[in-house]
Amino acid sequence: MRSPTAGRAADLLGPTGPLAQRLEGYEQRAGQLSMADAVERALADDQILLCEAGTGTGKTLAYLVPALLSGRRVVVSTASKALQEQIAYKDLPLIEEHLGLEVGAVLLKGLSNYLCLRRFGELRDGFVDTKMGGTRSRVTEALPLVEAWAERTTTGDRAELAELEESHPIWALVTSSSETRIGPRCEHYDVCHVTRVKRAAESAKLLIVNHHLLFADLAIKGEHPGGVLPNYDVLILDEAHRVEDVATGFFGATVSSGGLERVFADVERSLRASFLHHEKEPPGYVLAARQRSVELFAALNASVTSAAEDAREPLPELDAHGALRERYFALDEALSVLGQVLGGHGPIHDALAQLAGRVTRLREDLTAILYPGRTRVGWLERRGTGVSIAASPIDVGPLLRERLFSRGLGVVLTSATLTSQGSFAYIRERLGLAAALDAPVEELVVEEALDFANAALLYTPEDLPEVTEPAFANEAAKRITALVLATPGGAFVLCTSVRSMRAFATELASALPERRRLVQGDAPKRTLLEQFRATGDAILVATMSFWEGVDVPGAALRLVVIDRLPFDVPSDPLVAARCLAIRERGASAFAEYSVPRAAIALKQGFGRLLRTRTDRGVVAVLDRRLTTRGYGKKLLESLPGAQRTKEFSDVERFWASRKL
Ligand code: SF4
Repeated sequence: MRSPTAGRAADLLGPTGPLAQRLEGYEQRAGQLSMADAVERALADDQILLCEAGTGTGKTLAYLVPALLSGRRVVVSTASKALQEQIAYKDLPLIEEHLGLEVGAVLLKGLSNYLCLRRFGELRDGFVDTKMGGTRSRVTEALPLVEAWAERTTTGDRAELAELEESHPIWALVTSSSETRIGPRCEHYDVCHVTRVKRAAESAKLLIVNHHLLFADLAIKGEHPGGVLPNYDVLILDEAHRVEDVATGFFGATVSSGGLERVFADVERSLRASFLHHEKEPPGYVLAARQRSVELFAALNASVTSAAEDAREPLPELDAHGALRERYFALDEALSVLGQVLGGHGPIHDALAQLAGRVTRLREDLTAILYPGRTRVGWLERRGTGVSIAASPIDVGPLLRERLFSRGLGVVLTSATLTSQGSFAYIRERLGLAAALDAPVEELVVEEALDFANAALLYTPEDLPEVTEPAFANEAAKRITALVLATPGGAFVLCTSVRSMRAFATELASALPERRRLVQGDAPKRTLLEQFRATGDAILVATMSFWEGVDVPGAALRLVVIDRLPFDVPSDPLVAARCLAIRERGASAFAEYSVPRAAIALKQGFGRLLRTRTDRGVVAVLDRRLTTRGYGKKLLESLPGAQRTKEFSDVERFWASRKL
């Protein structure tokens, strides 16, 4: 049934609406109006809408206005903090001021963003052993800063304390998490920052969250009642191309050597804070569990074959690996003892009872990972000196259908990159939307709002070596240098591996010593982007984390170079398991999975270039497979309609013909 409000969003956003009348230079956008209309229908009829809308559409207003008009409780979820903040601090105030709509929104971050008064008190009162990971002096140094902030903050949101970087070790000791939060029995419950923001969320009409929080909530609600978010009627997923990856993390299980160490440290601090343990050394049952954990992870570490950090590899089969199995059983036994001791202190020691539950879940996760069954794939990964092991669902589609799409909610999934060659088939298949559901699934591709044909040039040279040839790196570095010199502004060099990133960064430093060069990892992402925007003609060399969610309008970014086509590593256990599952049903994994996935990633990288209607620029893809292989045509057909050339001279002509 169509809602009586249908079409009202388009009236508010259209040429005779209040925005057009009040905002100088407001441009009416046909794509925005058609999207607003489709969102309005989906919400009124509890449909599912897949909507691809590129940069410049004004898509946040196209879903926020119908969402607010619907009068229902809405959750908007984004992949990036930047978009969450844009919605909360820019779009919603604009709607409130100019459209007169009552907003009533709450921005809800993950629990680890909020100060936990109990954990902070334990650190301040000296119950925490801060020597973990050699961080003692940094934690001691930062404590007065956190103490002063804890006194004055009314939100407990750690973003207020910008002097301390996000990765500072003190945050892990004083912030909340679903694992450490006690809830109503905590002595600080009524004045707790998490309680306050959750109460505000319960009465809010519109909640702004991120995908991590949303899927953590769906994963918890799938197992038992409760969860992090209150009930809602409508869900809008922006940056929805990230849904499969985030859902994979939350519907799976992960255990790391560092994570286990954090549990043992929390046990120690809680025993001391409860005055149940006074000795300098931890109790024997903690030492035993810690020792068994060290032994299991040492054996897992020894089984890693890849030298590359962050490379996932298959988990050894436990039954074929006697020593590993023995160590797993020994750890499980020690954790069982630990859980019993913690649980045996009775309900007056809430923190210990809560830790006992955490130890039980750890044992369940370890079993799920080491015996993953047929629907999950187990893998391990080395990070720094630690090792992580995990089991990920091969197909999140059935879980999403069960926990999200079959609940009768209106769900909007939108992003600048949902289609491959103009089709939603890939995303529907991956998210469990290919087979029929009770609710209809609508599709909409909003026409491009930016004039790519005039504003952008896609340069695809064919005279460079193949990316697999040893000569490629050197020749590619020379071509990047030439492109940077030909460009009046800044450049992104987006790489598919850390190794290429480092190699190009070194080459560019010696070829262009006068240009400011920024490299991913040298400073936090936010700082690098601030420096890049402020410099105006800097070169930023980065890997996949800069391919999306990064917004640099204007001359500071005039050139985007992509070194290789962003195909997944085929030996990655999760990728291999997904490809095998597709082959087992008689389809081509390359055509159905690898190519569409690469197309969406490439379109994201390309999308960094033009952010406003006045932007101009060149995207250079140095991997000649884009024009010489059959699948390259499919990737090209998925990209925006920029001019194309294989000749470097056209790049120079492109800039010469443009007044900037
Ligand atoms: S209720 Fe949870 S988050 Fe709040 S202070 Fe207590 S333990 Fe920390």
